Amino acid sequence: MAEPVILANGEVKDGFIVEGMQALRSGARACDVAEQIARAVEDDPEEHTVGYGGFPNLLGEVELDASIMDGDTLHVGAVAGLKGFRHPISVARQVMVRLPHVLLVGEGAARFAEEIGAERRDMLSPEAAAAWRACMAQIGTAGSLSERVWRARQVGYGHDTMNVIVRDAHGSLCAAVTTSGVAWKYPGRVGDSPLIGAGNYCDSRYGAAACMGLGEAAIRLAAAAQVVTLLRVGWPLDAAGREVARQLAQLLGVSAAEDPMRQVDWARVLVMDADGAVGGFATRPGLHYKVQRAQDPIPYLREACFVDPS
Ligand code: ASP
Repeated sequence: MAEPVILANGEVKDGFIVEGMQALRSGARACDVAEQIARAVEDDPEEHTVGYGGFPNLLGEVELDASIMDGDTLHVGAVAGLKGFRHPISVARQVMVRLPHVLLVGEGAARFAEEIGAERRDMLSPEAAAAWRACMAQIGTAGSLSERVWRARQVGYGHDTMNVIVRDAHGSLCAAVTTSGVAWKYPGRVGDSPLIGAGNYCDSRYGAAACMGLGEAAIRLAAAAQVVTLLRVGWPLDAAGREVARQLAQLLGVSAAEDPMRQVDWARVLVMDADGAVGGFATRPGLHYKVQRAQDPIPYLREACFVDPS
């Protein structure tokens, strides 16, 4: 028997991880537990960057991205820009189970969610709507949306994601990622979370990686796939995580004059290898992750290893 392990970002509430570990101890499978934890976070109104309560786009619409990857089969399901459904992660999983596709976007994703009877919900919480109104009042209505999206960046914007990687008693891995993306984004903007290889990659033979932070950086580096590829070719977990975090730090550190996509921002990668060893690697200090092993009564909070660009 393999040792069950759950790795999640530091913002995921302990109770959600503890419940997931209870399920794993009773023999639940990695994908079921990853989906269960993601659903709990999607319902949490205090989490302003995932599911209900997530910050909306420039038009005040909450657009949700999610993906799930089964490390045993390399089966994948993802949705991007999904509006009006309570559990994007479950819609993503059903894309994996029911369709000959891996990713649905926007109206197509909503049509599929409707077709499978996924629960509808107005995902804009009163707090998130108030934050959006405050930002819009600051940036004004002058100019095109493309101009306003840059002004909104200057006002300040939040972003975050739920990352969870689960190893079950069979040694199977599953990685799930769900987010409302970057606050006040241009409508239709898709981050790294639903893009397999960018924000999520999982192969039970080698390991899994999930990303958080400025998605554009993880997309440009195929960050999650890179980590798992390095594990596949024999790199130790620590070296693989540091290498990809270093590349993210270099990209995020490029000056605005050289690269107009540059943001003063951060990224973090969570990694689990096939044996259940874990690590977190970040481009700024003070970012955390949580890990719970089968014998642990509660998850432990650990600081991600800060990696600078050099
Ligand atoms: N990676 C997410 C995105 O870019 C946001 C985040 O994790 O902060 O959509």
